[in-house]
Amino acid sequence: MVVGAGFMGSGIAQVSAQAGYQVHLMDIETAITDRALRDIRWSVEKLAAKHLLKEPSQKVLARISPVKDLSSASEVDWVIEAALEEEELKRAIFQNLDRISRPETPLATNTSSIPITRLAENTKRPDRVLGLHFFGPVPLMGLVEVVKGEKTSPEFFERGVAFVQSLGKTPVRVQRDIPGFVMNRIFSAAFREAVDLVDHGVVSSEDVDVGMRLGYGWNAGPFEIADNAGLDTCVRVGRTMRALGVAHLAPGSNLIERLVAEGRLGRKTGKGFYRYSPEGKRLPPEDR
Ligand code: NAD
Repeated sequence: MVVGAGFMGSGIAQVSAQAGYQVHLMDIETAITDRALRDIRWSVEKLAAKHLLKEPSQKVLARISPVKDLSSASEVDWVIEAALEEEELKRAIFQNLDRISRPETPLATNTSSIPITRLAENTKRPDRVLGLHFFGPVPLMGLVEVVKGEKTSPEFFERGVAFVQSLGKTPVRVQRDIPGFVMNRIFSAAFREAVDLVDHGVVSSEDVDVGMRLGYGWNAGPFEIADNAGLDTCVRVGRTMRALGVAHLAPGSNLIERLVAEGRLGRKTGKGFYRYSPEGKRLPPEDR
């Protein structure tokens, strides 16, 4: 079961179905799971057109069932939570999942920044709670951080690693449960500096992205990555970093908050640091 059918949850459901798993994809409104299924269909058909699927796209899509609540958690072998990056919300979801799912079922979270141990506290099975931190867009990115909470058992940690491998992804083991884990901390340090330099008028966001691609060999610049991830999610991650005592990993300026207040959430709203056509093609930034 995947809880949350947004950008990440829909991607995790898709790669799981592509790997042969039956998936319950849960969100709070049917309109959201409908949109997720449309996005998944689009992505799966694109992969099929490029001959990157092992089987007909219909077969993959038929493995995903949308659900409106957590009740079918009682039937599943794995749960991956990918709801909004809000600690209270995730705590409530974990409490409910612990009540509904079988005691042996591992409960994983895709949180970007909240320590696993804090979510595990809300369950009676902290040894079976772990982080599976995917990177977006999930169908295209090969990495998943497998994060050990303070009480995650070695057995369930390794089951997380094996599950990630079964999806065709490469696991990186994060042995200690710290806010932001490893990859997001490293990215956040660079992103913090990039945001502050742009907000202080030193450089444009577009030039930072060109610079990081050509100068450091990144596949995408930090502002391209942020637009894809969703600037609202970046704000929530920054908030968690500040609240958990790692404020040096959150931007000093409030540029991202200002863009979000204007409805510029990134690719998902057609506008963030860049603009996007309705077909998702990137257009030059408006400010130029
Ligand atoms: P999103 O806003 O696209 O999706 C979040 C979904 O959670 C929404 O569809 C929302 O309706 C749903 N939701 C809200 N309350 C819920 C509830 N009670 N039960 C079930 N679903 C609920 O966000 P996203 O980018 O997919 O991020 C989801 C999680 O993945 C967050 O924890 C985020 O930090 C993490 N993450 C995001 C990225 C990224 O690039 N965006 C990368 C790695 C991890």
